[in-house]
Amino acid sequence: MKRTFSILLTLASSLAAQPSYDLLLKSGHVIDPKNSISKVMDVAIAGGKIARVAANIPSSESRKTVDAAGLYVTPGLIDLHTHVYTRADVKSLVAGENNVQPDAFSFRSGVTTVVDAGSSGWRNFEDFKKLIIDNARTRVLALLNIVGAGMAGVPEQNLQDMDPAKAAEMAAKYKSIIVGFKTAHYAGPEWTPVENAVKAGEITQMPIMVDFGQFRPERPFEELVTKKLRPGDIYTHTFLSSVPMLDSAGRLRPFLLEARKRGVIFDVGHGGGSFLFRQAAPAIKQGFLPDSISTDLHIGSMNGAMTTMLSTLSKFLNLGMSLEDVILRATWNPARQIKREELGNLSVGAPGDVAVLRLAKGAFGFFDVNGARMQGTQKLEGELTISNGKVVWDLNGMTRSDWKTLGNYGAQGDTRWDGIVRQENRTRK
Ligand SMILES: [Zn+2]
Repeated sequence: MKRTFSILLTLASSLAAQPSYDLLLKSGHVIDPKNSISKVMDVAIAGGKIARVAANIPSSESRKTVDAAGLYVTPGLIDLHTHVYTRADVKSLVAGENNVQPDAFSFRSGVTTVVDAGSSGWRNFEDFKKLIIDNARTRVLALLNIVGAGMAGVPEQNLQDMDPAKAAEMAAKYKSIIVGFKTAHYAGPEWTPVENAVKAGEITQMPIMVDFGQFRPERPFEELVTKKLRPGDIYTHTFLSSVPMLDSAGRLRPFLLEARKRGVIFDVGHGGGSFLFRQAAPAIKQGFLPDSISTDLHIGSMNGAMTTMLSTLSKFLNLGMSLEDVILRATWNPARQIKREELGNLSVGAPGDVAVLRLAKGAFGFFDVNGARMQGTQKLEGELTISNGKVVWDLNGMTRSDWKTLGNYGAQGDTRWDGIVRQENRTRK
């Protein structure tokens, strides 16, 4: 009996010595819009999930502690509009818009989830899944193009290939990945692409995203956002030159507020051709902020005016939006828009997706898709990104120890929090 008791005691003390957390971010300024947090706090992660957010969590309770003082700690960013279906069979996706590999651009910008906006349709979604989604460390979700062939140039104009039933069927089959539907780049006078995307959305109870293609008098933009789209549907490319945003006196047109009141969502979708300061600055000044800030990432935009997610967010900071307002539009707002409310927040039990950002102060320049420049004083930089509880990006090695203190060192870190040091390095002698 006495012996059993002492074994139990030993067991209890060894359990107590086990740290509760794998990773602890200490003293960063946490911005978690879902939970209305914007202050210095600690964030603890265990088993790939957010385990605790509180003041003064002791370092002794974690395997690894990172000092985040002076930095901002936010939920992993969600980029609502990207193109990541790289495929060899289509050389030039829509007028030279080439797709990019998700992991090549996500983590370095604090992004842990990307939504591919219609690069694939029901005919090739499974190829997209097998080729890209299943192999990416970035969480890749998808808005399925209403065109069966997806975004492959000429086929996107084919009204015969816009089958709502087939699209809805594919979305139902992969509802953990497909979050809605997309129509884009349509040049004809018909409403069919929008109407068929809405039909697919009605069958599945999912939102649609519209790139309105060529703006034509037969289908006015005002009618799109005040009549055709349902509450929760998303118009992307809000600050595109063709959007009739301002009247001749520079005032915001009232129909935009009417559309917003109906629940229509306005997304940025910066891209290679869809963001002008002369549209965004007066709209923001008059209180018309976008609901979500996304990049429309593709090779044309990333090597152009858009550059990165963090640069896109920084444009809005320099246009006068608060950091909290900007982070909301890259985390909790897009999560709600795609009905994935487990994402974009730091609630206990949420996936351990975190961005640690530096807000650099100085002289920075930004430009828009017409090549007009804006001088800015602040810019966000991605210091550390954590995906499902593991460090996947560490710009300045802030999770690392100085090599001079390590002697004849082997592979550092611990696979419970370290997603960077390669497995080959761990097994190598
Ligand atoms: Zn796009």
